[in-house]
Amino acid sequence: MMNYPLTLAQMLEHAHRIHGDKRVQTVLPNGKMHDYTYAVLYERVKRLANVITELGVQRGDRVATYAANTYQHLELYYAIPCIGAVLHPLNIRLSAVQLAQIVHEAEDKLIFVDGMFTEQFEELRHKIGCKQIVRFNLNPADTDTFYEQLLGEVEPAYTWDIQDENWAMGLCYTSGTQGEPRGVLYTHRSMFLHTLAVNQADVFGLTEADVVLPLVPMFHAMAWGLPYACMFAGADMVLPGPKPTCIANLIAENGITVAAGVPTVWANAYPELLRRRKDISSLRRVIVGGEAASPTLIEAYEKELGVEVCHAWGMTEMSPTGTFSKLRGTHQNLSDAKKWRIKAKQGRPVPGVELRLAPEASTNFTELPWDGETVGEVQVRSPWTANRYYKSEPTTEHFTDDGWLRTGDLATIDAEGYMQIVDRAKALIRSGGESISSVALETALLKHPRVLEAAVIGIPDEKWGERPLAVVVLDEQARKKILDDLKQRLAVEFPKFWIPDRFVFVDEIPKTSVGKSDKRAIFAMFASNGKQVAGGSGTSHPKGEIS
Ligand code: ADP
Repeated sequence: MMNYPLTLAQMLEHAHRIHGDKRVQTVLPNGKMHDYTYAVLYERVKRLANVITELGVQRGDRVATYAANTYQHLELYYAIPCIGAVLHPLNIRLSAVQLAQIVHEAEDKLIFVDGMFTEQFEELRHKIGCKQIVRFNLNPADTDTFYEQLLGEVEPAYTWDIQDENWAMGLCYTSGTQGEPRGVLYTHRSMFLHTLAVNQADVFGLTEADVVLPLVPMFHAMAWGLPYACMFAGADMVLPGPKPTCIANLIAENGITVAAGVPTVWANAYPELLRRRKDISSLRRVIVGGEAASPTLIEAYEKELGVEVCHAWGMTEMSPTGTFSKLRGTHQNLSDAKKWRIKAKQGRPVPGVELRLAPEASTNFTELPWDGETVGEVQVRSPWTANRYYKSEPTTEHFTDDGWLRTGDLATIDAEGYMQIVDRAKALIRSGGESISSVALETALLKHPRVLEAAVIGIPDEKWGERPLAVVVLDEQARKKILDDLKQRLAVEFPKFWIPDRFVFVDEIPKTSVGKSDKRAIFAMFASNGKQVAGGSGTSHPKGEIS
């Protein structure tokens, strides 16, 4: 067979030649829609390749982006890797201090910045010294080079020359939920194979007829691979832009068929989607991941909105997709309740991904059974899984001697191959020598109709080592009445010692930069003997604590 290199340039050429009339739409800062075809995008990507080259970027150089989901960001997603440089999307929600460290480690040569973020970028700019900066969506205060002007000044022709599919194409940092962000370097080959894998019918299953709304930011784990998966499949894309927009409007006005985002996005959008049920009838599938989606959320979308919910699990280290939860043919006759319980699991490995369960914290590897009950650490290998972190040698904390990634996630896997995350190893609560799963408690709490958000953390306890503390966002009037209810509900499912001693009601659970529950921030708020630490998180004010 031909030794044909798997590169992003091939994907772009295919998208242009076969799907040139397909559309990319972006919500502009003024609320209007920018709309163009893949053919126009292709021509601009070639010009952009010339711009980046003329700015002195060479093969292997890192080029950063500081941007939301926009057409310019999509152009950069192709132009940077296709000239042999490395696309490095910066997480705009990290602090300037964290980002400065990341830019320093990555040695980014050039940064493309959305003018909408001029003010928040200033702090970072001071910390990183004089980097070359190009802006788009220009703000009147900007004095940097203007993207559109540069595009107008160069030749439209460019010949791709990726000589090796193992050249790096992208660099993404983890969002830092459990420690400092770590860099992961993707290759053309790994991203190409990830794209083919997620486009399988039993995974994202995108087709040319789809209109896709990626709500997951392009700086979070490469937007779950959607910018590449959509264009390779030929799907239309609607990009939500730098300002928050009404999701129901976007779906209704653009005939969105598939949308992807973290559970919080879907929980927040639900009331409006329910009101607009008739207008959003085009929506056939929601992809949810990044943290556990509750069975209640899945049930609400499937039962009340008639939208299929697919739960996905992955990590930045895995490009990021690892498992995907869809029902098997044999499940079709099950009751709805049973179906939703299966769908709330994180799913079966995407073909190409190998999973195994290992005893937690054991140096001698013995594979644990797939019986749906035995809990172990999930270990992974695949053509799109990292074998080390950027600029560091593999350590046994993250990689096994026989070359598997230690995910740090604890899970069960059943005989059909459905994985169910119990918790992150570091988030498991250790009480009197026993383990308590914060995720299981959160899932149970979320089943209560009055609970909007829930996060459970372990706080130090003299007698037991750690005890669970539940932080929940409640309907205001129901707060007092509900406490007994919650405890009773937990008591049905769990032994007495699992029941949190205290419940704290808040307006909002603190979130990480990518919208997940920020357990470290919650811990900081409540770590001093479980009482709120003065001046805790800016947005979440505990309303009261009831024991
Ligand atoms: P970070 O590790 O900094 O949060 P990532 O965004 O790469 O960065 O997060 C990967 C982790 O997110 C996984 O190891 C897992 O703990 C969690 N995760 C991702 N998807 C799911 C899911 N569907 N259910 C439960 N946990 C998930």
